Amino acid sequence: NTPTVVAMHWFRKGLRLHDNPALKSALEQSPQKFFPVYVLDGNAYQLLRCSPLRANFMIECLQDLDSSLKKLGSRLYVLEGDPTIVLPAKFEEWGVTHLSFEEDETGEPYAAKRDEMIVQKAQAMNVNLFTACSETLYPLKDYMKKGTAGGKAIANSMGSFQKLFNSMPAMKKVLPAPTKDDFPDMKEENLYDGEFVPPKRPTDLPWPRGIPKDQVEYVWGANDCRNLTPAVRGGESIARKALKESLKDSNWVATFEKPQTSCTSIKPSTTALSPYLSWGCLSPREVWTALDEAISKATTNGRSKPPVSLHGQMLWRDFNNLMAHDANRESPGCWNKIEGNKYCRNVPWDDDPQLLEAWKKGQTGFPWIDATMRQLRQEGWIHHLGRHAVACFLTRGDLWQSWEEGAKHFEAELLDADYALNGFNWLWLSCSGFFYQYFRCYSPITFQMKNDPNGNYIRKFVPELRNVPSKYIYCPWEAPSGVLEKAGVNLGKEYPKPIVDHLEVSKENMNRMKQAYDAQKKREAERKSTSASKKQ
Ligand code: FAD
Repeated sequence: NTPTVVAMHWFRKGLRLHDNPALKSALEQSPQKFFPVYVLDGNAYQLLRCSPLRANFMIECLQDLDSSLKKLGSRLYVLEGDPTIVLPAKFEEWGVTHLSFEEDETGEPYAAKRDEMIVQKAQAMNVNLFTACSETLYPLKDYMKKGTAGGKAIANSMGSFQKLFNSMPAMKKVLPAPTKDDFPDMKEENLYDGEFVPPKRPTDLPWPRGIPKDQVEYVWGANDCRNLTPAVRGGESIARKALKESLKDSNWVATFEKPQTSCTSIKPSTTALSPYLSWGCLSPREVWTALDEAISKATTNGRSKPPVSLHGQMLWRDFNNLMAHDANRESPGCWNKIEGNKYCRNVPWDDDPQLLEAWKKGQTGFPWIDATMRQLRQEGWIHHLGRHAVACFLTRGDLWQSWEEGAKHFEAELLDADYALNGFNWLWLSCSGFFYQYFRCYSPITFQMKNDPNGNYIRKFVPELRNVPSKYIYCPWEAPSGVLEKAGVNLGKEYPKPIVDHLEVSKENMNRMKQAYDAQKKREAERKSTSASKKQ
């Protein structure tokens, strides 16, 4: 008599059936019972700080997963609470013998602690574990092993990462989604009919434990998103359609160069697949393979190359994940922080809640910056260069506020909020890490003028200014009062005056940045000489 196999697959990110190696390995145990589970956890990175728009996106992902599983004779079991308590209770109640999940390799601190505890509890309860690394093109531990062989330091620039990537063995093949035959017959489990169903709206989601309501800044529970218009809708099914649609023009894919795409176009000028990659509705290997296929069909001779090509974008993604993993390996949980982060220079930022608030709300008085921040709130997604500009504006460019605050706001508002990518890009844009050319600063006025001379993007997202003539749409403060009056704008009333003088503060900030860099150099030199004298 073979013992009963009761398997559970725990979805966290990785909200998909295709190319899901952990899910596959659980099903390969030929379980007599199989429980695909998701735990709604208000304290997890994905919900702790979360706009109603992203909460809704997550719900759409769960509903889609549930309906895809139902087509295979299974379903999604949605639980709620602290996974380290809720899951062991279900191990016992359902007699779980096998648990599978996709590993989180970045070292995001909440996930790292949670997973460590689950592993301990599962082992103590004799539950067999199956985990797999499928959030990146190669497991981060494989990059580390190869990249640090012979005592080398891990690649910490895109150039050296590309070399490392090119030295990796052939990529694993994309796995198909399981079929009906892979799932056990669970009709009797209809006992749970009406229970464990996915939530319907953001207000159904659990509040973070131990955090008073008035201390949660991004109150998805108290808001709704009826007036918001997400850039994309959630779920693996829609993600797969979006992948096909975005890559159908093979010549466009083959010649894609990121810096040539526009951040003022009303429709995304890049693939807008990021929310699907962040939530794992699509596997990066599947996107990579789809890019290969599209390019093989291209009829144009031109081929763009990493880092600006679409393959290059996927490499940035792996590189960002690797850097987060490496930073957290040395100092757990440091990645989206200044303190203890070996990749972050310490810059003495100001702390001005009013400036920060004006930036968050799109009320800085710089129409293009405000349009971008309002697109973020309205659609949950902005183009990469738009992210560049608003991040530079908040930090080293104009407002001199800490990148940590900007990163937190993005973490809450982006549909694609991603621990590794967000941290890396904020380090980069604030010139705190990886990029140091602080004298190159985006102008919040002229940067996009050439791309969108009529300011259509501004007119859409800052409707107060829709009747301002093109000549003044990027700088309404320069318009004669009669012109503004005719456009129905009273600066300081319908729309704010600029909160800073860009030319003045950007110059000042470059000096402050130079001082911060010099101070850092001095500290490093002192540290080196102290450690050298200790060795003697
Ligand atoms: P495409 O150009 O079509 O690229 C395809 C995929 O490659 C993307 O979906 C993404 O997964 C990856 N990719 C593209 N650009 C980058 C990049 N610069 N770094 C790493 N991976 C990249 N991206 C997130 O997914 N989540 C975040 O939280 C996030 N925060 C950011 C914060 C700042 C301040 C900045 C400047 C950028 C941030 N990005 C983030 C990176 C980038 O802006 C988005 O990934 C990209 O704009 C998503 O649009 P897309 O899917 O159309 O990208």
